[in-house]
Amino acid sequence: MTIDQFKFAGKKAIVRVDFNVPLNENGVITDDTRIRGALPTLKKILSDGGSLIIMSHMGKPKGKVNPKLSLGQIKDAVAKALGTTVQFAPDCAKAQEAAANLKPGDVLLLENLRFYPEEEGKPVGIDKEDPAYEESKKAMKASQKEFAKTLASYADCYVMDAFGTAHRKHASTAVIADYFDKDHKMLGYLMEKEVKAVDNVLSNIKRPFVAIMGGSKVSSKIGIIENLLGKVDKLILCGGMTYTFAKAHGGEIGNSIVELDKLDVALGVEELAKKNGVELVLGEDSVIADAFSNDANTKIVPSNAIPAGWEGLDAGPETRKKFQAAIKGAKTILWNGPAGVFEFDNFTAGSRAIGEAVAEATSEGAFSLIGGGDSVACVNKFGLADKVSYISTGGGALLEAIEGKVLPGVAAILGEK
Ligand code: AMP
Repeated sequence: MTIDQFKFAGKKAIVRVDFNVPLNENGVITDDTRIRGALPTLKKILSDGGSLIIMSHMGKPKGKVNPKLSLGQIKDAVAKALGTTVQFAPDCAKAQEAAANLKPGDVLLLENLRFYPEEEGKPVGIDKEDPAYEESKKAMKASQKEFAKTLASYADCYVMDAFGTAHRKHASTAVIADYFDKDHKMLGYLMEKEVKAVDNVLSNIKRPFVAIMGGSKVSSKIGIIENLLGKVDKLILCGGMTYTFAKAHGGEIGNSIVELDKLDVALGVEELAKKNGVELVLGEDSVIADAFSNDANTKIVPSNAIPAGWEGLDAGPETRKKFQAAIKGAKTILWNGPAGVFEFDNFTAGSRAIGEAVAEATSEGAFSLIGGGDSVACVNKFGLADKVSYISTGGGALLEAIEGKVLPGVAAILGEK
C-alpha cells in the first residue's frame, strides 16, 4: 500500500515519526527540522479525514521513565506545527481508551516509546557474558511482540515515517508491521523521499563518485568506509580520523583525537583503496590549537608533525585546497561528517570548504546527498542547504542504506527485496 492510495477517511492511523528533536535545558526545542519533516504525512492523513496516533522516541532513556525526555514537552510545538490541538497519552502502552475515542481530525501523541525496554527489545540489566543472557533475550523478544501488538491495536493502519530510526528493528519501527496486512501498512512521504534519494545514488551512479567521510572516529564508520571503497572513485577522509591515519604512519599528533587500537584498521583502509583503485584523499596540514576551545591559540602545521600539547581541530589550507580539487568535477557526492570541530566558529574552515565545493559541483550537475546530523548542521550553518541536491534526515540509517542493506523499517513495509 502507498500513502497516496490509502483512504484515511474515518480511519485511525498510527504513525511512527522521528520527533527526537534537540531540547535546551528548559525543554525548549532548538531545531524543529524533524517535526517539519513529518508534517506532509501527518497533514495528509488529517486532511483526508483520518485521525492520528503519533509515536516517537526521544533520546536514550534506556527503558526507564525520564521526565527530561518526555514527549509531553513538545506537545504544544506539534500542535502549532499541525495547526490543531493535540492530546497527550502519558503512557504509550496504556492509550487504548484515548485512541478509541479519537474522532476524524483528532491527534493523539504518545509518550516516549523508549520508556519501555520493549521498544528496543534488548534485555536490560544483564551482561552479554551472563549465561542467562540468551534466555533473557528470548523473553524480551516475546514481550517486544506484545508491546508492538498493543501499539498496533490502537489503529486501523500503520505508517512508517521515521527514517532516522529505520535501521533499527524496534517494536514501533518494524515489529508492529506484523500486525497489519499489506493493505494497511505503508511508508510515509518522508520515508518515500529518503528511499528514493538512496536509490538515486545506488542505482544510477554517475561518475566520478566522490564520498566524503568526516567526524570524530574511524571505528564508527569503518563499515561504510570499507563498503564505499567498493563503489566510489575517490574517498575523502577528514575530521578526527585524520590523526589515526597519521599515527598509523608514525606521525606526531600531539593531543589530537586518535584511536590507538585502530591503527591497523587505518592501514587496512589504505590497502583496500589501493587494491580497488580508489583514490584515498587524506588531509596534509591541520589547524592546531593549544586547547579544545574556540578561543585557543592556533597554528598551521603538517598533520603528522603536531607538537606536544597541541591538537588538530580543523583542516589546514593545503588540505582544504586538496579536498576542493578532489570534489570538483564529481557527478555523485555523498557527504557524512564534518572536517573539523565546526561547532567552534574558529574551526569551521575545513567543513566550509567542503560544503562550498559540494555546492559548486552540484551547480555543475552533480547529485549531492548530505546525511548525518553534523554535516546537515554544517550545510545549514554555511547557508548552503538549497545548493545541494538532497539533505537526509538519517545518519546511521542513511549510511546503512548506502551500504546496500535493506533497512528493517523499510523491509517491514515493502518486504525483503
Ligand atoms: P561523528 O559523530 O563521528 O560524525 O563526529 C562528529 C563530531 O566530530 C563533531 O562533533 C566534530 O566536532 C567532531 N570532530 C571533527 N573533527 C574533529 C577533530 N579534529 N578533533 C575532534 N573532534 C572532531
